[in-house]
Amino acid sequence: MRLSRRILVSGGAGFIGSHLCEKLLAEGHEVLCVDNYFTGWRRNIEHLVNTPRFEVMRHDVTFPLYVEVDDIYNLACPASPVHYQHDPVQTLKTSVHGAINMLGLAKRTRAKIFQASTSEVYGDPTVHPQPESYWGHVNPLGIRACYDEGKRAAETLFFDYHRQHKVKIKVARIFNTYGPRMHPSDGRVVSNFIVQALSGNDITIYGDGSQTRSFCYVTDLLDGFARLMDTGDDFIGPVNLGNPVEFSMRELAEMVIAMTDSKSKLIYLPLPADDPRQRQPDITLARSALGWEPKVALADGLKETIGYFRSLLAA
Ligand code: NAD
Ligand code: UDP
Repeated sequence: MRLSRRILVSGGAGFIGSHLCEKLLAEGHEVLCVDNYFTGWRRNIEHLVNTPRFEVMRHDVTFPLYVEVDDIYNLACPASPVHYQHDPVQTLKTSVHGAINMLGLAKRTRAKIFQASTSEVYGDPTVHPQPESYWGHVNPLGIRACYDEGKRAAETLFFDYHRQHKVKIKVARIFNTYGPRMHPSDGRVVSNFIVQALSGNDITIYGDGSQTRSFCYVTDLLDGFARLMDTGDDFIGPVNLGNPVEFSMRELAEMVIAMTDSKSKLIYLPLPADDPRQRQPDITLARSALGWEPKVALADGLKETIGYFRSLLAA
């Protein structure tokens, strides 16, 4: 059990951030949730607001922030392609200026800082599965670049602040993660398919549905965060955190239809530009350095997530 710490979670009202705030509070820490509600939702954190150790601040991380903290988790950034492409300039600012502001805060307060990086730093990978040593295959001019290149620049900033200013950093490359509290109009595949299946609408498969992703349940991911944060100062990452079991989008759609007993039909829409063909984390490093691997099978995680959306849609 770690001693009680003052912990800032940027993006704390989002899907992953809200679970992280909840977990850190349950461990006895003080949590400062910082969010501008671009894709986050007050509803995600409303059950926490009466906890005296929890504080919420509406703030955009592209502006400097002066607070006193021991640890920082930098999660602020829209993660769904639909949302990060809505205002690409703001997405880049959030990744780059947000990283600079959070790293500046870490430097002044000597806080340890965690970066929520992404498998998107590998782009449309030519190496499969993707190890951390792979430098990636990213189109710097395409519609995903605001996110991919923003997160790559943020990693560069983290490593330069570490080398130049001795800031204590921890960088995780997160692969597709899902679970309760994803926004129903988030636009990512798991939430889209479940909401469509429960509403009896067509299931929108982009392309022919043969592209693959590997889906990690949110509780597994958070266990990885904690193990990474608890490593000694020498281990800084980057480390892949994701579930190595790979599914095609057609397989996912069929699973969701079967599990929801839905009459929805599959329809095929054009594949968005630069959509990665396949993605699967190589988690050898996470296994050896963190003793971590995911435990929740897709069917079990989907069951929980379907239950969440069922009650949300019924409300
Ligand atoms: P999310 O969209 O639910 O959460 C992001 C949060 O950041 C939201 O609450 C949003 O309002 C907030 N935010 C956005 N811009 C901000 C700004 N300028 N200032 C303050 N707050 C801002 O997404 P998520 O899935 O919870 O992702 C959290 C983090 O994890 C993101 O950094 C994302 O890039 C990373 N990540 C997520 C996944 C995934 O599959 N969920 C995969 C890889 C990386
Ligand atoms: N996708 C789909 N239908 C949808 C939403 C997404 O077929 O309604 C596909 C998308 O083209 C991609 C995969 O599902 O190939 C995962 O998309 P998501 O937006 O969840 O995240 P990504 O991994 O692409 O960032």
